[in-house]
Amino acid sequence: MIIFVIMKYYVVLSLFLAMCFETLAQDAGSAGTGELDLKLSEMGFVDVATLDTAIVVDLMYARDDNFVGRAMYDGLTRAWLHPRAADALKTAQEELSRLHPGYGLKVCDASRPMSVQKQMYATVRGTSKARYVSNPANGGGLHNYGLAVDVTIVDGNGEELDMGTKVDHLGTEAGVSREAEMVAAGVITAQAVKNRELLRSVMKKGGFRPLPSEWWHFNLVSRPTAKASYKVLDF
Ligand SMILES: [Zn+2]
Repeated sequence: MIIFVIMKYYVVLSLFLAMCFETLAQDAGSAGTGELDLKLSEMGFVDVATLDTAIVVDLMYARDDNFVGRAMYDGLTRAWLHPRAADALKTAQEELSRLHPGYGLKVCDASRPMSVQKQMYATVRGTSKARYVSNPANGGGLHNYGLAVDVTIVDGNGEELDMGTKVDHLGTEAGVSREAEMVAAGVITAQAVKNRELLRSVMKKGGFRPLPSEWWHFNLVSRPTAKASYKVLDF
């Protein structure tokens, strides 16, 4: 009899421990593994990968093949957004899925803490690339509030649509204000402009605003609004 009682407690204890470990594993999974991941998670920021299964995340500054030439995201392994920007991105993906089932938004950058912004600016300061990076001394940009996202579209096979240039291309071809001229001059194709228009339309549906100089960059609010009403990620 005593053996059965011990076995019963053993089984109950094992189940309890298994549940605890599973919960811990899930928490670790949603919080990411880096120091900056944990801070953003604690602030209530949203892990973009949890918004919609169609959204793909591929952080370009976590790899060496970005325009800076080396990985910048030590301690940041996930794409995080302020909850308002996360809601807007979810709406944008829903609109994209409605228009083109199988298509997904591919997020290449989202929240960028000021420590990373400073490191990035220091790397390009004094070079021709400096004008593409917001100066942290001036308060940085909307990525530093978790209110901007760099994004493109992938098809059902995970292939990026032709947008005329790659994400983070340095040059006037990345601008959105002279697209008709660029098509006429054979710099980008008419299909690339259609693809950009699709991206802009779904992002606008979510409440984002496009940036004239970079087809992939979208802000949720203006810089003055961010400064007045939101907290910069000063860590
Ligand atoms: Zn951007």
